[in-house]
Amino acid sequence: MRLTDFPLRTFKEVPSEAEVISHQLMLRAGLIRRLASGLYNWLPLGLRVLQKVEAIIRDEMNRAGALEVVMPVVQPAELWQESGRWEEYGPELLRLKDRHDRAFCLGPTHEEVITDIARNELSSYRQLPVNYYQIQTKFRDEIRPRFGVMRAREFVMKDAYSFHLDQESLLEGYAAMRAAYDNIFRRLQLDFRIVQADPGAIGGNRSEEFHVLAESGEDAIAYCEADGYSANVETVAIDTDDVSRAEPTADLELIDTPNVRTIDELSKFLDVPAGHCLKTLLVAGEQAPAVALLLCGHHELNRIKTEALPGVARPLRMLRGAEVEAATGCEPGFVGPKDLDVPLFVDAAAASLSDFVCGANAPDKHYRGANWERDLPLPDVVDMRNAVAGDPSPAGGGRLEIARGIEVGHIFQLGSKYSEAMEARVLDKDGKACEMQMGCYGIGVTRVVAAAIEQNNDERGILWPDAIAPFDVVLIPINLDKSYRVREAADSLYAELQQAGLDTLYDDRNQRPGVKFAEADLIGIPHRLVIAEKSWDNGQIEYKSRREADAEMISVDGVVDFLSKRRMP
Ligand code: ATP
Ligand code: MG
Repeated sequence: MRLTDFPLRTFKEVPSEAEVISHQLMLRAGLIRRLASGLYNWLPLGLRVLQKVEAIIRDEMNRAGALEVVMPVVQPAELWQESGRWEEYGPELLRLKDRHDRAFCLGPTHEEVITDIARNELSSYRQLPVNYYQIQTKFRDEIRPRFGVMRAREFVMKDAYSFHLDQESLLEGYAAMRAAYDNIFRRLQLDFRIVQADPGAIGGNRSEEFHVLAESGEDAIAYCEADGYSANVETVAIDTDDVSRAEPTADLELIDTPNVRTIDELSKFLDVPAGHCLKTLLVAGEQAPAVALLLCGHHELNRIKTEALPGVARPLRMLRGAEVEAATGCEPGFVGPKDLDVPLFVDAAAASLSDFVCGANAPDKHYRGANWERDLPLPDVVDMRNAVAGDPSPAGGGRLEIARGIEVGHIFQLGSKYSEAMEARVLDKDGKACEMQMGCYGIGVTRVVAAAIEQNNDERGILWPDAIAPFDVVLIPINLDKSYRVREAADSLYAELQQAGLDTLYDDRNQRPGVKFAEADLIGIPHRLVIAEKSWDNGQIEYKSRREADAEMISVDGVVDFLSKRRMP
C-alpha cells in the first residue's frame, strides 16, 4: 500500500476520553473511531488487523472440523421465550419491535438460533457430533461501555456451538475446542493463561476462560505455580472447615469514633490493620429486608458465592443509606454484628479473628477488643469473599498469587439446557429420541485486538506481533522527491516485497523522515526499511526492528530473505 493512497490520520496527543493504553493507541494510530457510546468504526488500518485475527481463528476452527455459518443479528423474541431467556436476560438484551409490532432482539449471543438450526437440520445420531461457528457482530447494551472496543456495545465475536449424542462425545468436543483455542492464542503471539471459570448466566457445567495477561485487565486470576492451579478469582473456593482463633487478650471496649465510617478511616483512626476491623455489609434478603455479611476489612465480597447463600436476594443488591437505617436502626458506617437483629453470615477469615474492631450500632461508636462467642455469638461461617494472594491453593500444592487478565475467550459445556427447553432431539441407535448435549465456545475478536496492544506497546506506540500487524514492513525512502535514483530504488524494492507476499506500507509521501519514523512507530509496523541514496549506491539498506533499539545495514540483494528469517512464524 502506498501511503499517498491511504488516508492515515494519527495524533500525538493522548485523547482525553481514553483511560487504557490500547484505547489511546487505537485512536491515536487511526485504527478505530468512536461513533457513539460503545460503538466504533473500524478504519482501514484497524480492519487489516481485525481481519488477520479473524483469519487465524477461522483457520484453526476449520482445522478442528467446525463448520462456518452466519446467523442474523436480529432474532425473534419467540426463540428467547422458548429458552426462558427473554425474561431472564435483563437490560443487556436490546429488545425492539418491527412495523408489524412483532418483538425481536439484537443478538448478544446465539444459543437460541443455533439450537433452532440444530433441531431442524439434525435428526439422527449418525450426523453427530457437529460444530457450527460464525464470526459475526453481537450487540450487548452494556451498563458501562468502556476501554474502547474492549468493552463495547457492538463487537465481533467468534461463537461456536457443538452438538453431541452424549456426555462422552461432548467432553471430546470440548477438549478439541480447548486445543484449538490454545493454537489460536499461540498463533496470535499473545501471553495467555487458561483459567477455571464460573459458568454464569449461560448455565451448564464446566467452563474455562482464556485470559491475556495485562495490568489493565478487568479480571483477577488466581494461580499457583507450584501445583498448576489457575482460576478466575471469583470462582476460587476457600476452605471454611478449619476456622481457628487465638484466645482473647483484650476486654470489650465501647469507644468514640466520631465521623469514622469506612474501614480505611477506622484503620487509620485506631492504628489497627484493616484486616482486624470487621466489615458489616447489608444486602437485600429474599424474605427479610436485610441480611448482614461480615468480612475482614481488607477482603472483598464475592458476588457469585454470596448469591448462593440461603436467604440472600438475587441479583445481589447492597442496601442504601435509608434502607440500612430502617433495617438496623443505625446509620451506615457504625453498624456491627453485636445485638443486630437480622440474619447474619460471617466469612471464614472473619470468623478466625480475635480482639477485633466492629461497629457498635450507635452513631460515632465502635467496639474494640471484640471476640466471638465471648461477646457475641458466632454466626454461620461461610465462604463469601474473593481469594487474595497468599490464600492456600485449592489444589493443595502451595499459595495463590494474583495476576490481572483480559478475558478473550470462554468455553462452556452447556449440556442439555437449550436442547431440553427447545426440544432439540435426535434419534439414537435404538430409534429413541434424545436431547442433544451442547457445548459453546466464544472469542471476543475485536477485544483480542485491544488486548494485543495492552500487551505490546512502548512509549512510541504499538508493537504488533508479526502475526497480526496491519503491514509486515514499512518502506521509508529518504528524499524521495529530490532523488530520482531513490524513487526508482524504492519503487522496485516495493514491487519485490509485494511480490514476495510481504504486506508492505510504502511511505511515498513528501514528509520529513522524522515524521515518517514516528508514525511508523506509532502504528507499530514490526519491520522498517530505510532507503537512502548513498547507502543504496553501496548495495546497502537500513533495517530496524520495531522491538529493537538499533538499526543495522543489510545487503539490498538479500532483503526478502532477511525479512523472512526475522519474521516470527
Ligand atoms: P465479560 O465477563 O467480559 O462481560 P462475558 O462472560 O459476558 O464477558 P461471553 O458471553 O463469554 O462474555 O462472550 C464471549 C467473549 O466475547 C468474551 O470472552 C469476550 O472476549 C467477548 N466479549 C464479551 N462482552 C464483550 C464486550 N462488551 N465487548 C467486547 N467483547 C466482549
Ligand atoms: Mg458480559
